[in-house]
Amino acid sequence: MRILITGGAGFIGSHLCDELLKQGHEVLAMDNLITGSLRNLAHLTTRPSFSFIEHDVTKPIHVDGPVDAIYHLASLPSPVDYLEMPIKTLKVGALGTYNALGLAKAKGASLLLASTSEVYGDPRIHPQPETYWGNVNPVGPRGVYDESKRFAEAITMAYHRTHDLETRIARIFNTFGPRMRLDDGRVVPNFCRQAILGNPLTVYDDGSRTRSFCYVSDLVEGLMLLMERGDAMPVNLGNPREMSILDFARTIIELTESPSEITFIVPQDARTKDDPQTRQPDITRARTLLGWTPKVRLEDGLLRTIAWFREQLQD
Ligand code: NAD
Ligand code: UDP
Repeated sequence: MRILITGGAGFIGSHLCDELLKQGHEVLAMDNLITGSLRNLAHLTTRPSFSFIEHDVTKPIHVDGPVDAIYHLASLPSPVDYLEMPIKTLKVGALGTYNALGLAKAKGASLLLASTSEVYGDPRIHPQPETYWGNVNPVGPRGVYDESKRFAEAITMAYHRTHDLETRIARIFNTFGPRMRLDDGRVVPNFCRQAILGNPLTVYDDGSRTRSFCYVSDLVEGLMLLMERGDAMPVNLGNPREMSILDFARTIIELTESPSEITFIVPQDARTKDDPQTRQPDITRARTLLGWTPKVRLEDGLLRTIAWFREQLQD
């Protein structure tokens, strides 16, 4: 198949390029490099079945030749990025998804939307099944990301229902692994960098908020299975093992064998405004529909990620 990945120079997108190429597909990675990097794709540039297209998906997308499938990942998913670039975040979620769907329709391609657990907002139901409609503050600072993805889900369903387009919606929960940006502000790169450098780990507020972390190879496998075997309704993809951010900080210190201490800080900016208190995927649907379940233990995934961050910090 000839497959387009928007956001292909990002963290998850570049791993998806690797796996689709391994399966023998032709892969076109599209990215405007606003936060992504060609370094993530450098090992692929000599492959004849791989090409990179620099393009902003908020502008109409033209691709020569056939396209069989589109993985639409372009987005600004790091809280630090979307708080700094709220309008770009809304535009890539809304206009970017509209353009990607337009291309899918024109080419007769199937489209998978990378949505997010953030559509559940600060959830009142725990763990979160796909049937939960969420608790999002549309006018809060996180609303720009959450609502852009909620709009993206709505327009994806509209294209499916109106034009009979084959679509998928993956609600991705916190995912980590090599190629995350060291400075993207998310908790995994922050804590790993701080622990490797021997600096204090910055736990926001009292560290009692919870998250569930999925290793990137598991997530990529889930995305590919969803494209192959899924249906149009949303599917949660994530690792159900949940822990508090404070315990997560302790785990990182242990795995890095770092002398770092933990410091509790109360961010004065919007970083923790509407920050979900808990988050854990109910993956019953992914298990039954796709036969998918995450395999990589948190500690094993973290050790691989820490090794990669160490290399980056030495460069
Ligand atoms: P990332 O920031 O590493 O990758 C996103 C890519 O999109 C970047 O390379 C960026 O340059 C590109 N991009 C942004 N705006 C663009 C535009 N207008 N045109 C073209 N390219 C553009 O993020 P990621 O962690 O790899 O996330 C990939 C997808 O998965 C996103 O859609 C995100 O919302 C979703 N997701 C990720 C997580 C996670 O924990 N990593 C969780 C939930 C959802
Ligand atoms: N967090 C933290 N310290 C940091 C970065 C993040 O305590 O240096 C917290 C953040 O407030 C949130 C959780 O870790 O409760 C996960 O944050 P992240 O930015 O990784 O992603 P989110 O799950 O909020 O999208």
